[in-house]
Amino acid sequence: MEKIEHIGIAVKNLEASNQLFAQLLGVSHYKMEEVATEGVKTSFFMSGPNKIELLEATNPDSPIAKFLEKKGEGIHHVAFAVDDIVSEIARLKQEGFQILNETPKKGADNKLVAFLHPKGTNGVLVELCQEIKEG
Ligand code: ZN
Repeated sequence: MEKIEHIGIAVKNLEASNQLFAQLLGVSHYKMEEVATEGVKTSFFMSGPNKIELLEATNPDSPIAKFLEKKGEGIHHVAFAVDDIVSEIARLKQEGFQILNETPKKGADNKLVAFLHPKGTNGVLVELCQEIKEG
């Protein structure tokens, strides 16, 4: 893994949290994106070199809605940048980690993503993400 790519925070109201985080960080979000397949609307902030992703559920069955129901608002996942997500998934599987989706799927921000089950990572939902390269 290369570095922490972003930290994902589950919020109830994206509009309100966009304002809150703009006040907190001193910069506005630079984009919003809906990932319909995941039932989520996201917004992104840069804090210096670091990225924060806010996530709001768009339907009651989405993973974010379930997270909010169980745990309330807060840190939802930590995402790590990887160069080759397929080989990283294979390596982590070999190490005994449980991968929630062994086939990477398209996430927000032009990324292929896969998640590790938090049961095997001290309760932290870990996201792997690889930039989708053109061609
Ligand atoms: Zn994420």
